[in-house]
Amino acid sequence: MKRTLLVLGGGIVGLSCAYEALKQGWRAIVVDRGEIGGQASGAAAGMLAPFYENGDGPDAFFRLCMDSFARYPAWTAEIEDVAGARAGFVRSGSLHVAYREADRLPLFGRLAWQARHSAGLEWLDEAALSRIEPSLPPGLAGALYCPEEAHVQAPLLVKVLAGACERLGARLLPLAGELTDIGQGAAGGLSARFEAHGTIGADALCCCLGAWSGLLADWLRLRIPVHPIRGQICAYDPAPVSLRHIVFGPQAYWVGKPDGSLVCGASEDEAGFDRTVTAGGIGRLVRAGGRMFPVLAGAAPARSWAGLRPATLDGWPLIGPAPGRSGVFVAAGHYRNGILLSPATSAAFGRWLAAGGGAGGDEASEAFRPDRFGVRGTGERWAATPV
Ligand SMILES: Cc1cc2nc3c(=O)[nH]c(=O)nc-3n(C[C@H](O)[C@H](O)[C@H](O)COP(=O)(O)OP(=O)(O)OC[C@H]3O[C@@H](n4cnc5c(N)ncnc54)[C@H](O)[C@@H]3O)c2cc1C
Repeated sequence: MKRTLLVLGGGIVGLSCAYEALKQGWRAIVVDRGEIGGQASGAAAGMLAPFYENGDGPDAFFRLCMDSFARYPAWTAEIEDVAGARAGFVRSGSLHVAYREADRLPLFGRLAWQARHSAGLEWLDEAALSRIEPSLPPGLAGALYCPEEAHVQAPLLVKVLAGACERLGARLLPLAGELTDIGQGAAGGLSARFEAHGTIGADALCCCLGAWSGLLADWLRLRIPVHPIRGQICAYDPAPVSLRHIVFGPQAYWVGKPDGSLVCGASEDEAGFDRTVTAGGIGRLVRAGGRMFPVLAGAAPARSWAGLRPATLDGWPLIGPAPGRSGVFVAAGHYRNGILLSPATSAAFGRWLAAGGGAGGDEASEAFRPDRFGVRGTGERWAATPV
């Protein structure tokens, strides 16, 4: 009989882990308190930018980003084939623009070490910059050009991934209400009870609750310092300016999407679990837009929205087995890069599943261990307090 994986959380991380299990012949049930993809994953700009996101040096996080990035084209193509729908992967390249000479120093610093990891990474002076991205204004101090960086339409990718999971037989259970109990029997069997679905039993459990991951800390006997960082973001539709590349500026970024819109993101602030869009948050993006692209000055975005990035204390995700609970894997805390990191996260989950819960020992398993912040509690009692 097929074994059953229960995935808590139907964002991109949970869905990608479910997809991996289905490919290995497991049954998969994905349960979400709200809509599938209704939180951070559906709000993301969808940039796949391992170079932009790693300014400091080639550490374990950079290598994880690069591993995931390398997997992306084949991963999306496979999911698209299974689902029979496209997810909008575009290898546009990116430009990290310097307004003034002083902005160039950190970009030169990035170039110095990142050029070893990307054949095409180079510095463009103003003339070269306006040749490859003519919509930028004159007078800029140049840009770091990364021809490899890419983007997807994150809400679309989530839909396609959910469709692929369903095609492989997954049960997706949105609008499940609160998790009211979770437990592990003496024989190792796992179960979770949801308001709308009652008790669901499973042989393995994957915890992918995004910004809400702290909910399981007591039961997992782990400190899970994941907290929400609100991101506000907007879109001009149709795009008043047609961009060939992702453009990063000092206060915002802009991505032209295949659906004809121009996405501009994103603020970062702490507002608890509040996803409200504020005039101040979007106003800053609008002003940054007018400064970078004169045609955006005075233009009003057609849509604005917000999502909660799941941030950890050290900014690195939690990926790996929960040491105190057999058959339980944690994949959470992907902060600004959950879209980028889903292929590598689900691959790590897949290795663990294939090894019967015994994989590990490699650099990534060590660097992103879910118990690296320590343990807590006894795990005997679980208080079903909604976060
Ligand atoms: C504005 C913005 C822009 C971003 N841009 C990018 C980008 O360009 N590139 C990139 O790589 N990343 C980006 N990110 C980050 C990325 O969106 C996240 O890292 C990623 O979506 C996290 O995925 P997740 O599945 O862990 O979390 P989520 O998508 O938040 O999914 C967690 C799920 O758990 C569910 N849940 C919560 N509590 C319970 C419960 N008790 N029971 C059951 N289910 C529950 C939630 O409803 C939710 O659906 C961006 C984020 C934001 C907000």
